[in-house]
Amino acid sequence: MGRLGTETAFEVLARARALEAKGRHIVHLEIGEPDFDTPKSVTAAGVAAIERGETHYTPSAGVIELREAIAQYLSRARGLSIDASQVIVAPGAKPIMFYAILALIDHGDEAIFPDPGFPIYASMINFAGGTPISLPLREKNDFVPDVDELRRLVTPKTKLIILNSPHNPTGGLLSKEAVREIARIARENDIWVLSDEIYAELIYEGTHHSIAREEGMAERTIILDGFSKTFAMTGWRLGYGSFPRPLVEPVTKLVTNSVSCTATFTQRAGIVAISQRPPEVDQMIAAFRKRRDAIVAGLNSIDGVTCRTPSGAFYVFPNITGLGLGDAKTVADRVLQEAGVACLAGTAFGANGEGHLRLSYANSLENLDLAVQRIDEWSRSARPAAARA
Ligand code: PMP
Repeated sequence: MGRLGTETAFEVLARARALEAKGRHIVHLEIGEPDFDTPKSVTAAGVAAIERGETHYTPSAGVIELREAIAQYLSRARGLSIDASQVIVAPGAKPIMFYAILALIDHGDEAIFPDPGFPIYASMINFAGGTPISLPLREKNDFVPDVDELRRLVTPKTKLIILNSPHNPTGGLLSKEAVREIARIARENDIWVLSDEIYAELIYEGTHHSIAREEGMAERTIILDGFSKTFAMTGWRLGYGSFPRPLVEPVTKLVTNSVSCTATFTQRAGIVAISQRPPEVDQMIAAFRKRRDAIVAGLNSIDGVTCRTPSGAFYVFPNITGLGLGDAKTVADRVLQEAGVACLAGTAFGANGEGHLRLSYANSLENLDLAVQRIDEWSRSARPAAARA
């Protein structure tokens, strides 16, 4: 148990709630979930399924209609040729990460993960007895991995490379060229790839390239995706993985051993979401784009803060070193306590997140404005007069 890490967003949320219980007003920019309601047609499909009595177990890998709808979606949207039998449904995308890493990593194996990156990658690699190898993502490279550096990190023990594009926490997007080079490295060194594509629909500039499309990659790539972000369904718990055939049976066994199956009515709602793509999805994406532009402009107007414009997801990753107010954790803690804005230290995503904060802009324009105003006012009063001069 000592090897298991955690996700700081849930801890910061608890601290923010405790401050609210004492009467403080907090702007929540810490947790990564759309603030929109689940599209109405999706909710209605879930309710109808409950009323029809679809409240019993399903096969562990999911109902076949949903697995088929997912396979069709992956072919339509990502150009992949996947059979429904390769799709495994789970209660959220996170369990897919859990199962894939447990299935692939043994003691002594190395797995390369993006740093900064979603904290559960390194946590699970450690938990499975492997060694997490940090692949630094640098601001000067727009938070995209340097493929030469990646090549140097590969050893005979490297079993897995984890990719996440668009990326949490930076919003970075992998270019086609980078994807191609990474595929080459994986093929040449016989390495599995876990491609976390949960933000693939949330892109404002550029296009998504799934590594599974590259030559020889379908048989070594696990695609992880889900309904939480695209369809504002975080609480329904619905995600999936598309697995190379040899992994399907073992991972299905992991599902049977852990959760048995995903909630039946949740799966029924998922069929409507993925096959009909309700109009609310594009409205939500348009709103995210406006919010992104507003928060990037707001943060850049603060003396000592610089913020790149992310291409996807719903996070910004401003550089706060120019504030001169300490490390990322200190600044994040003070911003919560003193400015009433809940956000995360970049280091909650790995050592390479130092010097940054992560703010989720899945919040109203009004609240984003308020957050920027509060951080600005707080930083002016917190900085010593000499530094401001
Ligand atoms: N991958 C990434 C990169 C994420 O940011 C998240 C959620 N924050 C997940 C996976 C997990 O998604 P889910 O809620 O569907 O388990």
